[in-house]
Amino acid sequence: MTIEKVNIRGVNISNVTMDEADAFIRERMENDETTSVYTPNSEIVQLCIEKPEFSDLINKAELIVPDGIGVVKAAKILGTPIKEKVAGFDLGLRVMKMAQEKKYPVFLFGGADETRCECGVSIADQCVKVMEEKLPGIVFAGTRHGYFKKDGEENDETIRLINESGAKILFVCLGCPAQEKWIDANRDRLPNVRLFMGLGGSLDGYTGNVKRAPKVFIDLGLEWFYRLLCQPQRIGRMMSLPKFYFGTWMYKLKKK
Ligand code: UDP
Repeated sequence: MTIEKVNIRGVNISNVTMDEADAFIRERMENDETTSVYTPNSEIVQLCIEKPEFSDLINKAELIVPDGIGVVKAAKILGTPIKEKVAGFDLGLRVMKMAQEKKYPVFLFGGADETRCECGVSIADQCVKVMEEKLPGIVFAGTRHGYFKKDGEENDETIRLINESGAKILFVCLGCPAQEKWIDANRDRLPNVRLFMGLGGSLDGYTGNVKRAPKVFIDLGLEWFYRLLCQPQRIGRMMSLPKFYFGTWMYKLKKK
């Protein structure tokens, strides 16, 4: 299955619906092909604009889905519309469902360790419990929290752990840009993993530690606003949203 990629301010976004993204991943798993999936939103595309070397890194992935209405709007402004927003959170759930059906072992990497969680269980281990209840029969190969230095001995140990676990699917949930950089640097060291998913704070969402926006906010394209209400510390990061939106208009006007 080939998918069209649309260049949005330098990032080659895959023009797919959620169903098509799901089918693409399934097909590649069936064919035993290795796939990296990144899920840039406006914040991340803005980072790519400011750091072209990060843009190059993102563009290496086989599937790059627009995880935000801002990216979909930008595509429209630029006259190259894309089909729909494909939220990484939801795509991650589809992948879990596929893993359950096909018995692909999943490894969850990232999120807070047990000392940072009130219940004394790491986010990744909490997520295993939640998913085992939701998707009976799903196989988890292992977990590893995300709070350690990513280029030293502990990282080597993590690579060994994942390799020995027999995982076919790896969720890397370290936040952007750490997770994309980690996948890029370590993919070749994990020869048995077929699917690398860069999924930010999704484990926090699956476990209910961070609440997802109610549907009405999502439908109105205001998920970012709900996130800001719940996590006001994100205000600095979120300044990139208007920068991206107005920057896209300027870019379009200059190109005319
Ligand atoms: N995180 C991690 N190790 C770190 C820093 C962050 O595992 O050194 C985790 C953090 O616990 C959270 C996720 O990475 O679960 C980042 O979530 P955020 O919502 O900020 O990411 P986004 O989805 O916005 O990229």
